[in-house]
Amino acid sequence: MNTNTSHDQAARTIAATADRHGRLADNASTVPLVRQGFARHRPDRALYLTLSGRALLSEHHPARYQNFSWATDPHPDPAPARITQADVDRYPAYHICGPGRALANSTYCTHQYRLTDSCPRC
Ligand SMILES: [Zn+2]
Repeated sequence: MNTNTSHDQAARTIAATADRHGRLADNASTVPLVRQGFARHRPDRALYLTLSGRALLSEHHPARYQNFSWATDPHPDPAPARITQADVDRYPAYHICGPGRALANSTYCTHQYRLTDSCPRC
């Protein structure tokens, strides 16, 4: 198979199926993406783009710039509705760099520091 052709096909499949978090449908059309290293299954079998897969997204796709890999970074499951400093300590990539940042940034510890800041007393 021509490398450019398979690369273009992967980009088209990713553009057609990736959601805003980089999750893909797990079906026959996405099997080649796993083989090519553009997608990887989480332990629960959900299929997500890898960093190289995300690089194939258009420059406007929200998943392209996530500094978080659903495929490899530890994350809470399901995403919590309310969080504490202990949640941030347990899943720092998710809460500091990842999809949980907005919630962590708008949640305060008992000392009135945002959970994304370093509270000297927590
Ligand atoms: Zn605190």
